[in-house]
Amino acid sequence: MSSNKTLVLTNGHFYTGTKIGIESNSSPSTLIVKNGKIDYFGPSNSATLHQYSDIEEHDLKGRYVLPSFIDAHTHFLLLGQSLAKVQLGGCKDLSEIRLRIAEYVQQNPDKERVLCSGWMHSMTAGQAKASMLDDLTNKPIYIDSKDLHSCWCNTPALAEMGVQNMPDPAGGTIERDAEGKASGLLSEACVLLIVWPWLAQVLSVEEKMTSLRAGIKAYHENGVTGCIDMAMDDNSWDAILALRKAEGGRLPLRLAAHWCINPGNGEADRLKQVERAVELAAIYNASTSPDLRIVGIKIICDGVIDACTAALKEPYTTNVASPEPIWTPSMLDPVVKSACEAGLQCALHAIGDQAVHNAVNVLEAYGQPGQRHRIEHLELTAPEDAARLGKLGITASIQPVHADPAILRAWPALLGPERIKRAFAYQDFADHGATLAIGSDAPTAPHPPLKNLYVATTRRSARYPDAGDQPVNENFKLGIAEAVNAATHGAAYSCFAEHRLGTLEVGKEADFVVVEMDFQPEGLLSAKVSQTYFAGDKVFDAATGSEEVPKM
Ligand SMILES: [Zn+2]
Repeated sequence: MSSNKTLVLTNGHFYTGTKIGIESNSSPSTLIVKNGKIDYFGPSNSATLHQYSDIEEHDLKGRYVLPSFIDAHTHFLLLGQSLAKVQLGGCKDLSEIRLRIAEYVQQNPDKERVLCSGWMHSMTAGQAKASMLDDLTNKPIYIDSKDLHSCWCNTPALAEMGVQNMPDPAGGTIERDAEGKASGLLSEACVLLIVWPWLAQVLSVEEKMTSLRAGIKAYHENGVTGCIDMAMDDNSWDAILALRKAEGGRLPLRLAAHWCINPGNGEADRLKQVERAVELAAIYNASTSPDLRIVGIKIICDGVIDACTAALKEPYTTNVASPEPIWTPSMLDPVVKSACEAGLQCALHAIGDQAVHNAVNVLEAYGQPGQRHRIEHLELTAPEDAARLGKLGITASIQPVHADPAILRAWPALLGPERIKRAFAYQDFADHGATLAIGSDAPTAPHPPLKNLYVATTRRSARYPDAGDQPVNENFKLGIAEAVNAATHGAAYSCFAEHRLGTLEVGKEADFVVVEMDFQPEGLLSAKVSQTYFAGDKVFDAATGSEEVPKM
């Protein structure tokens, strides 16, 4: 726990939910933390200060203070793992990729496998063959595509997973050569059903804990002290519990998780997975374990627009027929019904307008008042379905970083000029009363929230700001206060934590972030996190670069 000292922060621009200010005498410019909680928040006032002893005072010199961020949609273990991988982002071609891998192999003789991330098909002219890697090493090589929808493997990796003798799993493709032999690329459901479970099984708990620590550090550096994991399974959960134990029973990150339900082998199998979530939620819930809990289930109803796997009401404009959703209404019904009856929150991944329509329908049919169900992504929505979110109390869980124009260059061709006008209709959701919760979907997209908020409020590219891409549907951009709220209070509300987290208020946990910024949408791109506090403890300081996590 934090030291007994009383922390007094003065001369800050504190965020109060709608505005920032030290302009008037009544605006809060002082925040006092005692025993890990906010004890005072208001104008500076010497009489108040006199009530405290053993004070440690920090002059913020006019910097901004926001509630720390809660990443409302993440894949926590995968984020940590991705940070430890060989980064191929920015490679121009195959020779550069080979060079980076060769260097890594040479510098890490003890590693049994070579795990890489950030590769894009365009770097290798659409080619991804095992033979392009096989002379580099005898160790298995796994290369994640940047969007995590495919994995490029060398021959030892294909061999250790036993891919040669496998049929294509439902929803996935094992690319094969003329003789039918797996040639190196595993796409879509293969990643989720073959690669991830295999790596989960072969990586040690120690390795996973190292990854989780890297994930926490990356979050702290960016002002994040809470997250909602969107594809929890036994493998990740065990690793997180092991880390919590190793850290003395408490982590410097508050985590709520949705248990991932796979299509599996029929309805009974799916209901059994819901049972597992119910069982764990009975052990790890808001009263028994408020900072590490299972809050509900997650269902991946459809795919993504770029791969033409998102379920649309009309065919893709490129003449590709829209696929059936991965979860049809008859598959969704019993699972959502049983989760609702058990009091679990449902998080339904729905990207295409047909998948969104189905998701709203099933939540309308079985959701009970106050259960705070949510729909993830909502990338293409019909106006009538967008309007139903608020009415039904469904949280719009959005990842503005997916609306970055630099990664949407294929969309006009895929959706056509009319339909694309409904892409990422965030302001429309808010206008119709939906609670917005902002997340990153890391590691499929960058995790830093300030850049995510830049995209939310400007609809411009945070990834390649100088590339000249036009903003995407600027009419749906959010105001800066609206966006900050969605990344703090909205995210807390979405997992029933708003009474403890998400705003700067007396009695709440002292989780906040000190930011050097100009409080304007344009200023978010260059905004910098100076310090991050968790329960009143400074867990990141840009000045020293060090983490100051005391043993808790
Ligand atoms: Zn996700």
